Amino acid sequence: MIRRLLFALALAQPLAAQPELTVARGLVHAVPGELPTAIGYLNVAEWSFPLSEAVENAPNTPVSLPTAVFQIRFARGWIMVDAGMDRAHAMAAGDSSEFFDDRYARAIAALRGAGLIVVTHEHYDHIGTVTHSAVANELAPKTMLTRAQMESLLHNSTMTLTPFDSARAGRYIVFDYDRELPIAPGVVLIKAPGHTPGSQMVYVKLASGREVILSGDVTLNHLGIETEKQKPDPAHRVGTVDQAAIAGELAWLHAAERAGVSVVVSHDGAQLETLAREGVLRKGLAAHHRGRAEHN
Ligand SMILES: [Zn+2]
Repeated sequence: MIRRLLFALALAQPLAAQPELTVARGLVHAVPGELPTAIGYLNVAEWSFPLSEAVENAPNTPVSLPTAVFQIRFARGWIMVDAGMDRAHAMAAGDSSEFFDDRYARAIAALRGAGLIVVTHEHYDHIGTVTHSAVANELAPKTMLTRAQMESLLHNSTMTLTPFDSARAGRYIVFDYDRELPIAPGVVLIKAPGHTPGSQMVYVKLASGREVILSGDVTLNHLGIETEKQKPDPAHRVGTVDQAAIAGELAWLHAAERAGVSVVVSHDGAQLETLAREGVLRKGLAAHHRGRAEHN
């Protein structure tokens, strides 16, 4: 009897014990207003690499690795999550990706039309457009950067690859929080240092009831969440990576997914396609201001 009870408890454990998800769910209506209607995305660059470089023990099958920007859409207006980087920046960073100028122009239009911009972390492919591009100064006043992201920008440019100085820091909304922070109806930031010191995830509850977590680069492929495995070669990891923290994050994301949440992996091209087919994400960005959205 006791053994059966213990077994039942052990089974229930992964679904019951997810403080990150419980807290986020509790904050869905913290900011009053209508929940978002959809999440759009656009890949501004794409390249491919062996899956084995993303996930330990995975086959070396080539997989698509895009650089995506995300758009949380409301009835009136939107919030952008991640900003991509311009062509010059992509090339200067030694990126062998295919860069799409037309798509990047659409991403810029969506960033200019956004009410707020947040970034999952301070790597150039997520932050470059808001820190180091022709429109960086224009976007800065509505771009929210955490204190940790700002610290990396100011003091660790080899990691961020975006030259920055303290005079520019004051142009941004710099903020801090310990665990989770609601920023809009149905949108909650979840602190997740590990991949970088300033990494965070974005929990979204849509009006349809669907729950999505934009998980940034905690893993480069969804297989990393399914198997809870990290990159294989420590030599490939940047010095600031905290493997223990990432292990914990992969575990709770895996549990969240088993609880019905869609965990979006920024750089997993195949997963983005699948989620678009399933209606979890929308391909493309709405680029016209305040409700009169036009999809492209
Ligand atoms: Zn990235």
